[in-house]
Amino acid sequence: MALLEVSAIEVNYGRVTALSGVDLTVNEGEIVTVLGANGAGKSTLLRAILGAVPLKAGGIRFSGADITRAPTHSRIASGLVLVPEGRRILISLSVEENLQLGAHMRTDTTRVKAEIDAIYQRFPNLAERRHMLASCLSGGEQQMLAIGRAMLAKPRLMMLDEPSLGLSPLFVSKLFDLIKELNRDGLSILLVEQNTGKALGVAHQATVLELGRVVMAGDPKALAADPRLQQAYLGEG
Ligand code: ATP
Repeated sequence: MALLEVSAIEVNYGRVTALSGVDLTVNEGEIVTVLGANGAGKSTLLRAILGAVPLKAGGIRFSGADITRAPTHSRIASGLVLVPEGRRILISLSVEENLQLGAHMRTDTTRVKAEIDAIYQRFPNLAERRHMLASCLSGGEQQMLAIGRAMLAKPRLMMLDEPSLGLSPLFVSKLFDLIKELNRDGLSILLVEQNTGKALGVAHQATVLELGRVVMAGDPKALAADPRLQQAYLGEG
């Protein structure tokens, strides 16, 4: 069943057309990856889905409802969450305070506490540093914290904007293991990545953007074998 349906959306920044006629579907339980060079419109697509930039044309449905004109906070309340590029954790707060922020809209405090404990079990590095400032974490640990915080919002669809950017190879592997694990636990994921090989390896569907348009879409295995994609994005591994 379709969880997210983006239909023919157009987004402009002044005279710059950032997205044009973009279609995208994420079915319940899927990982969908969006690939493309810098400036292709990937972040804009995620911002449009969250309602952070207005649409010039097209529509968005989430979980059966038309959210095209819904404000961002109600989209978040309905189960959409974005882990933005650069992670945006609050480095002057502790690890634990960052996690608690993810749950700020929830009133089931006992469950929240249990879920924070579950996150600590999953990420022992965060548990050890729970009372330290988030600025003390490595880039990889900050990314795990950003994802942990997003999980506490109880999303139905988690959008990740270039989560592997700047991480060491070890953390990149850990990150992709985590993405697969969260998906196995039932979370649907929309993944924007520059690490094309890894992203195609975990995704159920892939879409390639170029200058704000969808130029390729479909089965990740078929896309990975497509000479056009190999030439454009897989060259550097
Ligand atoms: P990157 O990987 O570099 O973030 P991207 O694929 O996410 O690239 P976007 O950031 O969505 O691409 O940008 C798409 C286009 O819109 C680019 O031409 C960019 O210069 C332009 N753009 C993005 N944000 C703004 C903005 N706030 N104002 C004006 N133009 C913008």
